[in-house]
Amino acid sequence: MVTAPSYTHELQVAQLAVQRATILTKRVFHEKAKGTVDKNDKSPVTIGDFGAQALIIAALKHNFPEDAIVAEEEAAQLKEDANLRDTIWNLVKDTKLDDEEAEKTLGGAIKSVDSMLELIDLGNSPGGSKGRIWTIDPIDGTKGFLRGGQYAVCLGLMVDGEVRVGVLGCPNLPVDDSARLTADIGSNATDEGRGVLFSAVEYKGANSRPLTTGGLSPDSKHIGMRPIEDLTKATFCESVEAGHSAHDDQAVISQKLGITEPSVRMDSQAKYGSIARGAGDIYLRLPVKATYQEKIWDHAAGDLIVRESGGQVTDIHGKRLDFSIGRTLANNKGVVAAPLPVHERVLKVVQEVLKI
Ligand code: AMP
Ligand code: MG
Repeated sequence: MVTAPSYTHELQVAQLAVQRATILTKRVFHEKAKGTVDKNDKSPVTIGDFGAQALIIAALKHNFPEDAIVAEEEAAQLKEDANLRDTIWNLVKDTKLDDEEAEKTLGGAIKSVDSMLELIDLGNSPGGSKGRIWTIDPIDGTKGFLRGGQYAVCLGLMVDGEVRVGVLGCPNLPVDDSARLTADIGSNATDEGRGVLFSAVEYKGANSRPLTTGGLSPDSKHIGMRPIEDLTKATFCESVEAGHSAHDDQAVISQKLGITEPSVRMDSQAKYGSIARGAGDIYLRLPVKATYQEKIWDHAAGDLIVRESGGQVTDIHGKRLDFSIGRTLANNKGVVAAPLPVHERVLKVVQEVLKI
């Protein structure tokens, strides 16, 4: 019998790298509030995006120098904007985990502003079906990040086109896996009660643990989707942004499934993490524009975490998401994520409504 690889080192590095990057994103958010960074709406996102991407790539490069990386940002804009570059460098150079062993695992601080720019640009792989490829969304859910709501730092490892390791850092979700999903989830929690790190390894299940500022919390728990037979009691979630998924179609589907509660609108892959731990049940992302291709960094980690929690994730045609063909999910349209036992029923209604 062949046993599945455990990806122990990859999982540890991925979780620590995401944890360190979330510290940077939280600093950016707080400094925005204090007025230390420009309050114009785009800049905190830009600073957080580039900074988090640089920190994650530094950790990957130190531990897995041969691996390819598909990341959202490229450094061109920073090369032309000295102000922005220096602001980011000042944050990056002293964002550290307050645990020496953990910092050593990640390879410690980045040496110079130039190496920071080089690291950011290592995320330019075209992706594909061969070998080891990491994919990073440094801040998924930028609007959520700006309003102090949900966002996620996302990292996935694909080997030969399949996602094998997935990690999501969700600083504004409650630690408590059993907190029911609501649109303002986490907003009443204390600082200690907020911040969760989801992870999964193919065939090994999924876990959650509190985000910390040091080493990985030992308080790791297995997570699973809620066993739900009666779909009328399901909680369904969708993007806040009407441009990212078809709210009107999703409302009709929800109604046809007999769901009585209104949808929970939430930014980022926090939706995948939330249904994986049974806080919600169904995530629908039906296409608004037929030509839009979903990006692999928006789905890789969440797809694995939900499937390893007892869920199924397909597109609107019932096909599994195909991460093997480049930087986008060009072979798929939309996303339908639900517990495995009810996924087919949900998909059937999706297809009825979309007339597929
Ligand atoms: P969400 O927070 O779930 O609304 O998803 C955020 C992600 O939506 C961003 O990271 C974008 O990459 C992605 N996105 C941008 N435009 C579209 C679109 N037209 N349809 C679907 N997703 C989009
Ligand atoms: Mg994104």
